[in-house]
Amino acid sequence: MQQISTGDLFRSAIRDKTPLGLAAQGYIDQGELVPDDVVIGMVREYLPRVTAPGGYILDGFPRTVEQAERLSSFATIDAVICFDLADQVIVKRLSERRVCTQCGRIHSLPDLKDANVCPHCGGKLIQRADDNEATILHRLEVYHEQTEPLIAYYQRRGIIRRVNSDAPIPETYARLRNVLGLAES
Ligand code: AMP
Repeated sequence: MQQISTGDLFRSAIRDKTPLGLAAQGYIDQGELVPDDVVIGMVREYLPRVTAPGGYILDGFPRTVEQAERLSSFATIDAVICFDLADQVIVKRLSERRVCTQCGRIHSLPDLKDANVCPHCGGKLIQRADDNEATILHRLEVYHEQTEPLIAYYQRRGIIRRVNSDAPIPETYARLRNVLGLAES
């Protein structure tokens, strides 16, 4: 499946200094949501370009009920995955997150021998500008206020799948496959 991360699309638009990037940057730096019209316009434009035969995973979208409502007018969603994790563990994981500028892989600081070098490709690792503690805490507030209502929204539609994510990656991945009814890998 093709992964479509709205956050990645915004970060790439910011790097390229496109009008979309310029419109989104202030919100992202503050840990606020980019306005619905901007996000929906971007996803609407992007989806028809998806050619992966297995379909796609929307990562970080929708994040408001308005986005979910409008998404349902141009796409059919089979399942919604909610990764459950306590806020204090989220703060720790995001503070420790490092991203490779070359291959895009995500690493966790305690697993790295060198905090600046990607163990996969040797590329330079960076910390996202919004992964500082103050912005993370604000993003969580925004999440509880604007995104969490989507759990009930998709529960009512019977397509939510919840994954207890308080475990290392292989275990969380096994739980994810399980809730999606996929065979063990
Ligand atoms: P992420 O990479 O998913 O953590 O997203 C990083 C930032 O991009 C978020 O904090 C928002 O500012 C913005 N963003 C990404 N996806 C959305 C969305 N669906 N709705 C509004 N803002 C978004």
